[in-house]
Amino acid sequence: VRKTEGLTASFLGSFADLGEGGVDAAGAADFLLKRGSEFEARVRGVFELYRRFRDRIKPIGLDSISLFSEAIERAGSIETKYAFFGFGLYDFNELQWRLISEVSKHHPFTFFVPYGDGEEYAFARPTLERFAGMGFDIMEGPKSGRLVTASRVRIVNAPGEEEESRAIVERIIALVRERGYAFSDVAVLLPTADPYQDLVCEALGEAKIPFFAHANPLSVESSVAKGILNLLPLLRGGFKRGELIDFLSASPLRREGAVPRAVDAVALWIKASAEEGISAVGDEWEKESMELVEKLSRRSTGGDDRFFDAARFVHGVISRILGERKRFLTPSSWTDFTERLISLAVELFGNEDDPAYEYLNAIPTLDAVASPVLFETFASVVGKVLSAPAPPTARFGEGVSVLPMISVRGLRFKAVFIPGLVERVFPSIVRQDPLLLDEDRRKINEFFEGKVLLTEKMERLDEEKLIFAMAMNAAEDFLQMSYPRYEDGTGRPRMMSSYFRFVVQDDGSAGRGAARYPAGIDEERIGRFIGVGVEGSRRPISPQELFLSGAGRFLGGDGIVPVGSFFKAASKMVRERWGKKRFTRYDGVLQGKKAQRELKRLMVDGGWAFSPTSFEQYARCPFAYFLSRVLGVETIDEVDMISVTPALRGIITHRILARLYEKLGSEGLFPLYSADREVVMNVVDEVVLSELGKAEESEPVGLDVFWELEREKIREAVYFFVDAELEEDSPFVPSYFERSFGVGAGEDVSFELKSRKIHFRGRIDRLDVSRDASEFRVIDYKTGKLNGKYDGIEGGRHIQLPIYLIAASSILNIPIEKGVAEYRSVNMMSPGKVVRFEGAEWGEVASELVEVIETFVEGMTKGLFFALADEKLCQNCALRSACPAGHTGATYRKAEADERAERYLAVTGAAEK
Ligand code: SF4
Repeated sequence: VRKTEGLTASFLGSFADLGEGGVDAAGAADFLLKRGSEFEARVRGVFELYRRFRDRIKPIGLDSISLFSEAIERAGSIETKYAFFGFGLYDFNELQWRLISEVSKHHPFTFFVPYGDGEEYAFARPTLERFAGMGFDIMEGPKSGRLVTASRVRIVNAPGEEEESRAIVERIIALVRERGYAFSDVAVLLPTADPYQDLVCEALGEAKIPFFAHANPLSVESSVAKGILNLLPLLRGGFKRGELIDFLSASPLRREGAVPRAVDAVALWIKASAEEGISAVGDEWEKESMELVEKLSRRSTGGDDRFFDAARFVHGVISRILGERKRFLTPSSWTDFTERLISLAVELFGNEDDPAYEYLNAIPTLDAVASPVLFETFASVVGKVLSAPAPPTARFGEGVSVLPMISVRGLRFKAVFIPGLVERVFPSIVRQDPLLLDEDRRKINEFFEGKVLLTEKMERLDEEKLIFAMAMNAAEDFLQMSYPRYEDGTGRPRMMSSYFRFVVQDDGSAGRGAARYPAGIDEERIGRFIGVGVEGSRRPISPQELFLSGAGRFLGGDGIVPVGSFFKAASKMVRERWGKKRFTRYDGVLQGKKAQRELKRLMVDGGWAFSPTSFEQYARCPFAYFLSRVLGVETIDEVDMISVTPALRGIITHRILARLYEKLGSEGLFPLYSADREVVMNVVDEVVLSELGKAEESEPVGLDVFWELEREKIREAVYFFVDAELEEDSPFVPSYFERSFGVGAGEDVSFELKSRKIHFRGRIDRLDVSRDASEFRVIDYKTGKLNGKYDGIEGGRHIQLPIYLIAASSILNIPIEKGVAEYRSVNMMSPGKVVRFEGAEWGEVASELVEVIETFVEGMTKGLFFALADEKLCQNCALRSACPAGHTGATYRKAEADERAERYLAVTGAAEK
């Protein structure tokens, strides 16, 4: 349990439910004795563990259950002068009911419970019934039956969460300007804090609008907390260069005269260490960073000591952490780990008044629960503690209120915005407690005959309906609900929340609740681009966006070109690019010293490791490689989610095949040709159905009708694939699945070039070995249509299969010549199609492969990223909108005139074009 965080969380969740539901240790023991045998071992096990857990916790006290129990016991002794009011509450756990009951015996107690006739209020009804049963008078409040509804309602569909948040700010500005609202008349109600809390606050901040928001995490408010969170990976992980740089850059390191304040020692160290190619893991850093100090010391005699001082300073930090790291390796008490961490943090960061230390000081109480613990466990708790919310810094009512949706109970605002209304977020995915199912909970409640109340998890959906209704009803004048089409960052398509059907049906007709908005509901779809003449685009919310929209209008033939240094600089770049016959840095050729250093650093940080697909991408278009692999540009398609994308289909099919072949192996069904066909097909059925079910739960699979078709397609392709292998009398046995190779995967797969040694990394879908272990076969599943035959490495465009052969040969220690690498189609558009590269052909491609890779690595290091793809490729290129191509003719003329492109053109064959 200690090592499985998810399981620990499940147990703690069930224990909390039992405690809040009114079960104590004695009650658990009684249940086990009298009725335990009627329940499964799982339920009995939970009760037995819970009984022991409460026995251990109770003497310590201070947990919420103990505090509540104590409050219930003391309720009768509260001084008599108090009257009690409960506001905005609609459900209670059993301990809360007991407290209410005890208090109300001695004091006047009045509750305000949300109530209405509609289905959305169903969740609050049992609460009213229980109050009535306890003898409370039930009275209608003065506003009952007079539902306040917004006079204007908008539903906004935005491309992503960021656009959605900015559209909210744009509308707030319009409401304030046009309708005279104060900012405090407006609330943004968030179904989930992540990512909207940050995005909305950021956009409000950019527009200089005052706002009150629920607290930020401590890690945002406290630099020491940030430093400690970045220190943890160094103390428990591999101490990799990336981790070290993250730590150095994000931490408030104490200088104490080591380097002058004005000098950014960390930046200088990063620069110097990259130039010297310094990279290490773990304890090797001590030696490597010392060597850097010595090198810089020899050079610093010229007068510039800044680099030397920076290296000495960072070396001191590294040594201190490495020295302490060893002491965190062995299990210890919470107190000991906390003291050591605080002492190290004070030494590194100082700032002893920072609230982060106060938060950490609460951790040692855990010794009373379990001790000693692994550093892993300790670090995960520190992570959670320091990510907890810090107290809010502004006051409610001082500007726009940004609140969790749940906290709106009973509040009213002139304008309310509800973003993030997407399916699976709101309504959320409600799962039963795996340890105590709803059915078990019902039976347990029966056993305790009303003294215990375990809530059923599926009731959460009814609660969300109520929260949504209250959020909508909080708007007195204007209500805007919105959802993103895509998830920012991943680009995954999202589906609008089914709650919208309350007001608008899928076919656009009015929903059940639409009648309450007689003025109608406006719908608006906003585009991704701003101010460039795109229909439905937003209005600017900051000066930068104002300039950009001005430029858009100018391009549309309206207005004048905006003034400002940004636009002057941009037009200068355009002139510089097209005024030269040779490639410039605006064509993807980066030969400045700084760029070259950065590129080298990138290679060093990556350990000079490359995937076959990265070379293939460079072969097809070096500029596409630059955008995606150097700058990290990602593409997000603007299409509505109707069906599964080809990429997702590929992912699901690969998952199915990996699990399927593992299972066939574990059930002893290899070789397939000698296995019982029916048994094999039963396994196929089981795995395919289970994986498709999982995909449906966790992936954006689109509309039901299309998903049904897609399921069939995937199922048919996998059946056909396995069927073909059942017929194949092959000497090979599938032995490895989704086998990673190269950096971080155990063995080094390297390749000696003339200039340097490089390493390969990647993942092989399947690796088969012959029964006598003398031959091997690499299989790569292709879920798109597969055509043609293997026709050489084509100037680097097709090197995946030969590189897989090198990797497999290295993993298995069998000569390359004894291997074969194949693409196998798992698609009914090319059923049974195989493209094969034989190891026996290795001699024919080896020298060309070396030449190609040598040229590419040199180009990548020297900053040669020409935008030199052919027009067909450009037409289908997902990166097109970030690429200055579209001038193919002019670009090829530059290539002819520029000797730096000569080698690339020759090896890729592009010269002939
Ligand atoms: S549009 Fe063409 S030139 Fe530009 S990145 Fe894509 S493939 Fe390369």
